[in-house]
Amino acid sequence: MAYDYDLFVIGGGSGGVRAARVASQTGAKVGLAEEYRYGGTCVIRGCVPKKLMVYASQFSEHFEDAAGFGWTVGERSFDWATFMAAKDAEIDRLEGIYAKNLQGAGVTLHDARAIVTGPHEVTLASDQVITARTILVATGGTPFIPDIVGKELAISSNEIFQMPTQPKRVLVVGGGYIASEFAGILNGMGTKTTQFYRSEQILRGFDNEVRDFVADEMRKKGIDLRVNTDVASLEAISGGIKVTDSDGGSFEVDRVLYATGRVPNTAGLGLEDIGVKLGRKGEVAVDQYSATSVPSIYAVGDVTDRVALTPVAIREGMAFVETVFKDNPTSPDHELIATAVFTQPEIGTVGMGEEEARAAEEIEVYSAAFRPMMHILAGKDEKMLMKLIVSKASRKVLGCHIVGHGAGEMIQLAGVAVKMGATKEDFDRTVAVHPTAAEELVTMSTPTR
Ligand code: FAD
Ligand code: NDP
Repeated sequence: MAYDYDLFVIGGGSGGVRAARVASQTGAKVGLAEEYRYGGTCVIRGCVPKKLMVYASQFSEHFEDAAGFGWTVGERSFDWATFMAAKDAEIDRLEGIYAKNLQGAGVTLHDARAIVTGPHEVTLASDQVITARTILVATGGTPFIPDIVGKELAISSNEIFQMPTQPKRVLVVGGGYIASEFAGILNGMGTKTTQFYRSEQILRGFDNEVRDFVADEMRKKGIDLRVNTDVASLEAISGGIKVTDSDGGSFEVDRVLYATGRVPNTAGLGLEDIGVKLGRKGEVAVDQYSATSVPSIYAVGDVTDRVALTPVAIREGMAFVETVFKDNPTSPDHELIATAVFTQPEIGTVGMGEEEARAAEEIEVYSAAFRPMMHILAGKDEKMLMKLIVSKASRKVLGCHIVGHGAGEMIQLAGVAVKMGATKEDFDRTVAVHPTAAEELVTMSTPTR
């Protein structure tokens, strides 16, 4: 049977765009449907605008620090509207590049929602039916907000990028990546920020020392971080929102940001109707080649609920193309993925945390907390943390954890060494780069525990 396309991709985000472009470059006829904006979550309402907001928010501290280095900084204020307009212009520019690159690679774009209506068939919102030899589902995820009283008053990360005015007072709910990053952003921009986390400590899944360290530093910067606390109800009142917490206390804010996780975007996509198996959270179940239970349908990225990060979605997209269009079965590698959390201070991490490693084998822990040079003249009490987890048996560095300025940049490089299987002795024989904060990683000589 002749199909309209060799490959039809649903979703123009990180995974879908890369897969479409690379597949098209193999000579395949490729179509792609995007219902919102090209670039997807990461470019339009995720990583990129978030990082721009992180940069914007950090100036308040830079201005304060400048005095310690002899600078006089005059009157300063932050104009939300100016920043948002600049941010939107940059996102528009990037979206244009994404669409242009797809078209340049020969991909046919359909600005529409698509649903799957057969093993080789998708239907666009316009009712146009399209056939394809292979279908790739790359529809990403969407914010999840639990059913609380007053839920309609809460916003998610989708809306935060388009808020017309800066809130004076905000409540951020959640203790994951997004909540902890936005607590720092809004606090840095001058918003009075309260963060609620339902359990013992934010950033579950990370090394415990890192979690405690970051939480302490966030509090020092002025975030009112309350753990073991949840929202009982939200109520609209004149001039804001009344928050009642799980202990019965209440206070007022202008906005409530819920960052309580994301769910795979499979609702109404038609997948189950044609036999594609979904998991408990609605994620598309895939094998190591990103193949679903229907042989002509594959899925990559957040919709599969493997590791919800942009570079991972891209790798999964590339591996899919290798497998299906280059006759080279390739599984995306999910081992030892380095990641950064753009909290303030920032976290960079790769490999196992102390607790996870200790449960697996005998380890040595090298950990150093210190005041970096940058903060001394600035008169700041902010510390950095460097931590290596080392296997006693193999001497391999099982985990590397950094908290502080530039942690994301550093962990990209430390990640190469850890991925290569570097031992503690490999780190030790690497001559330090001085004076840097990163040199601590190669100079910690005595195990802390
Ligand atoms: P997406 O990028 O979500 O793309 C899916 C696309 O499919 C969307 O454009 C959507 O509109 C479209 N779509 C959905 N359904 C349909 C349909 N039926 N028809 C047509 N189109 C459809 N990751 C990092 O690595 N670093 C970060 O710093 C980072 N920061 C983040 C900050 C925030 C606030 C958020 C929310 C996420 C962040 N992430 C970050 C995660 C990252 O954005 C995702 O992992 C990544 O975008 C996943 O790519 P994807 O291709 O799977 O899906
Ligand atoms: P996360 O899964 O990271 O965090 C969700 C948070 O919400 C957790 O603290 C969780 O608590 C809490 N939570 C969940 N359900 C409820 C509930 N019903 N009531 C109260 N609290 C609740 O999700 P995010 O939304 O922060 O981010 C989604 C993903 O996007 C991340 O996991 C990450 O993969 C990616 N991302 C990556 C970034 C980066 O690379 N820098 C930045 C932003 C996002 P508990 O821990 O108790 O379950």
